[in-house]
Amino acid sequence: MNENMKEREFQIIPPPYRIKVVELLSSEQIDIADNRERREKAIKQAGYNTFLLKENQVYIDFLTDSGTNAMSDNQWAGMMLGDEAYAGSKNFYHLEKAMRDVYGYRYLVPTHQGRAAEHMMSELLIQPGDFVPNNMYFTTRRVHQELAGATWVDVSIDEAHEPETWHPFKGNVDITKLDALIREVGAGKIPYMSLEANVNMAGGQPFSMENLRALKALCDRHRIPIMLDGTRLVENAYCIQQREDGYQNRSVRQIAREICSCTGGVTVSGKKDTLVNIGGFLACNDKKLFLEARAMVVVYEGLHTYGGMSGRDMEAMARGIYEMVQDRHVAARVNQVEYLGHQLIQAGVPVVVPIGGHAVFLDASRFLPHIPQEQYPAQALSAALYVESGIRGMERGLVSSGRDPITGQERKPKLELVRLAIPRRGYTHTDMDFVAQAIVRLYRARDKISGLQMGYEPKRLRFFQARFKPVGAKLMG
Ligand SMILES: *Cc1c(COP(=O)(O)O)cnc(C)c1O
Repeated sequence: MNENMKEREFQIIPPPYRIKVVELLSSEQIDIADNRERREKAIKQAGYNTFLLKENQVYIDFLTDSGTNAMSDNQWAGMMLGDEAYAGSKNFYHLEKAMRDVYGYRYLVPTHQGRAAEHMMSELLIQPGDFVPNNMYFTTRRVHQELAGATWVDVSIDEAHEPETWHPFKGNVDITKLDALIREVGAGKIPYMSLEANVNMAGGQPFSMENLRALKALCDRHRIPIMLDGTRLVENAYCIQQREDGYQNRSVRQIAREICSCTGGVTVSGKKDTLVNIGGFLACNDKKLFLEARAMVVVYEGLHTYGGMSGRDMEAMARGIYEMVQDRHVAARVNQVEYLGHQLIQAGVPVVVPIGGHAVFLDASRFLPHIPQEQYPAQALSAALYVESGIRGMERGLVSSGRDPITGQERKPKLELVRLAIPRRGYTHTDMDFVAQAIVRLYRARDKISGLQMGYEPKRLRFFQARFKPVGAKLMG
């Protein structure tokens, strides 16, 4: 199966929509696209952190696929039907129905976005001194687990940390590692297994159904619930359909439902799969957790029938949930990402393989072997890509990984990546061609890129606001 994945010829899958409305770029954005000096100035002002660029300084924005998706005409029509009643908005009940129809959990607590749901889940389930196993980590999920007093434990398979290994399911949990943790600390110290779908930090990599079943068997034996991060659920389901024996004839919707049925609950950032600009939720089957979360949401978010979203946001999300599970939608979305990745592989640019579901990840360690990890090669590469072309990506390496909360030491990850996350339904294949050309050009000039040192460093989630300086006189000499 691994070899097949590698040698498969690329087949394009056209998207199931036509473009009716476009978002015009400003003259400033066009100017930035044409003027390298302006880009050099802009990135310097932004402290070499792409998070600190202004949108009108960016030409193609692959910073994130979060909240940047294009909504459909059907979703926009739903926005007009927003019921902004403080309590009991009809759109909440539409959202609840959509969640039950597609994800299949009993109870829904809406939130303004994913991290609010993570906050509630962590506060309600974790006791100080607990351990929470995760298949790698997601930044906000881990920070909430740690704030609640837990120790994060990585139980992902070793291949998840190897950018060059063509493993079809790098999101898998290493059952042996989890078993060892249970033996070491005892199941009573493990409030839940935190399982992320299409693991972002590993490069957008799925787990298999076979792995999930084995995980469930182990967790059931020890009465440890599996709590899903279902933010990229349908992209994981699509990868199972494409790669796992026995799933070729199952729909994405059926597979997504099967994944959820193996878990006790979920947190979701609606800004990804569910095709909206803002929103999220916690859903679960346990009535006690539900009642506690519902009591908590009114403290931090808003009443339990809107949880920080407006009625129109909930309607758009309800409609997005039905759109996201359509096979052709997911196939075309993942295929567009693969289209970009395929061009880079053909040109010899080092990227994480297999290509992820939502993003192409440049492997900065191999792209810039002359820059040591202490000089933040992925941060430097994301800044250099912006200077080269006006394309904005994001560092996913040492800066994102941050510091150990106890020792204060930087947590050195094995992966130094630049993520190019592609918003759903927002860009054309021409944009992908442009991006590929720019990256290939930059790869040829890679020797000229210098490392960075940190100037300003925030205490938590430092990657959002940190500022840097080139180690040499200039970022690109
Ligand atoms: C975006 C994201 C989150 C956090 O959600 P927000 O809506 O940004 O708060 C959590 N987990 C994963 C996998 C995500 O991609």
